[in-house]
Amino acid sequence: MNAIDSSAPPQRILIAGAGQAALQTAEALRAAGHTGEIHLYGDEAHAPYHRPPLSKAWLAGEMEAAQLTMRSAEQFERKSIVLHTRARVSAIDRAARQLQLADGRRVAYDALVLATGATPRNLPLPGAALPGVLTLRSRDDADALAQGLADCAASARPLVIIGGGFIGLEIAATARRKGVAVCVVEAAPRLLGRVLTPLLSDWYAQLHRSHGVELLLGAQVQGIEAGPDGAAAAVRLADRLLPAGRVVVGIGVSANDALAREAGLDCDRGIVVDACGRTADPAIFAAGDCTARRLANGSLLRLESVQNATEQGKSAAAAILGQERPFSATPWFWSDQYDRKLQMAGLSAGASQSVLRGSLDAGSFNLYHFQGDRLLAVDSVNASRDHLLARKLLDAGVSPTPGQAADAGFDLNRLLLPAG
Ligand code: FAD
Ligand code: NAP
Repeated sequence: MNAIDSSAPPQRILIAGAGQAALQTAEALRAAGHTGEIHLYGDEAHAPYHRPPLSKAWLAGEMEAAQLTMRSAEQFERKSIVLHTRARVSAIDRAARQLQLADGRRVAYDALVLATGATPRNLPLPGAALPGVLTLRSRDDADALAQGLADCAASARPLVIIGGGFIGLEIAATARRKGVAVCVVEAAPRLLGRVLTPLLSDWYAQLHRSHGVELLLGAQVQGIEAGPDGAAAAVRLADRLLPAGRVVVGIGVSANDALAREAGLDCDRGIVVDACGRTADPAIFAAGDCTARRLANGSLLRLESVQNATEQGKSAAAAILGQERPFSATPWFWSDQYDRKLQMAGLSAGASQSVLRGSLDAGSFNLYHFQGDRLLAVDSVNASRDHLLARKLLDAGVSPTPGQAADAGFDLNRLLLPAG
């Protein structure tokens, strides 16, 4: 993959998308001294906003709009970043180095960043398009869902959530706080099966059950059925019909890579980029949920997180300016459900052994995941200091032994001290 021609620094940089990765790229460009034009084209009506609160404090009605918005109009102006809202990018003309907007305008670029995020997957079943079947990705979706929760509470009808992933479980926790009856239907035999080990999946199942959530695991949805008003009123499983005031579908996302695919760029469930956010076109970069990152061993990694969007945005900005800033930090995520904060450092897929540090019953603990002797990942629940330590260990490539990790009396900080 090539860097952009460094003899002629790009003057006009266009960014398709106006979310986490887009804003990070724009600000990193300015911080690195880029003095040319920067334009963000976002198809939403809103200026860039934080998505994580949409399933948490914002959905619960416990947050002001100003807190959700990332930057004020004055801040955009001060940094000379031009934000175009309701501006959908419809195509890329790579030969002419131009973006085509849905309103017919064409805009020339010297460098282009694709930061178009992802779209919730649709349920490919009868009734999935009925009114009252909701997904959650945008602020507008969250506002519709908040109204849905209020309607469920008022009519004493349950919220049925299809999908026991992060989105489904965070919505379940918020809905319970609002007094709404909740049923979560998960196709797999356990919650968060792709990211958590069985011990933690079971702990989360118990947490949700203890808050009154009905969990149906290993359950296949057959369709969604309408009531007399034509809106979704029930979810059909093989053996029963679940009444529903609203239905939320949270079964994962697809990367928004169509612009890149149609322009002939390499895509594989995401726009393929290197560790610096470069595509095979030296003038086109990509960052965030829309990407699939090629790792040193040739495999592709798709991450959907705030950290990934910000790190890739910083890497892409550096690459546009001809600098190398590969994204090499340990991946981390978090999820807030009830009064429990899960923080995950590293990727536990492929772990051969997991050891517990702390007490499951006390509700504050860590799970250290190893592949052989090597520490792969640490999941921490209500243990933020331990999470930060885990990130340091993983970034430094330092592994405690499984015995040291399991021994709460052993100070793991010692492993980070210089030898001698
Ligand atoms: P986005 O933030 O989705 O931004 C992409 C933007 O591009 C969108 O506004 C989209 O409308 C726009 N766009 C798409 N196509 C076009 C086009 N053709 N033209 C113009 N604009 C376009 N991550 C965590 O790490 N922790 C959390 O707790 C967490 N909670 C979350 C809760 C919710 C409800 C959701 C939805 C996500 C959560 N995430 C969380 C994930 C995190 O928000 C995303 O990984 C992150 O927002 C990705 O940033 P992005 O810039 O790649 O995409
Ligand atoms: P997800 O984490 O991929 O979870 C989707 C879940 O739905 C999986 O458990 C999946 O099981 C299950 N599923 C798939 N098809 C199903 C079906 N037909 N019936 C029942 N269950 C089904 O995705 P998500 O929860 O929808 O989240 C969407 C996006 O928001 C992701 O990018 C996520 O990272 C982001 N998000 C992140 C956070 C956070 O980091 N705290 C919070 C909210 C949202 P299988 O795995 O077996 O397919």
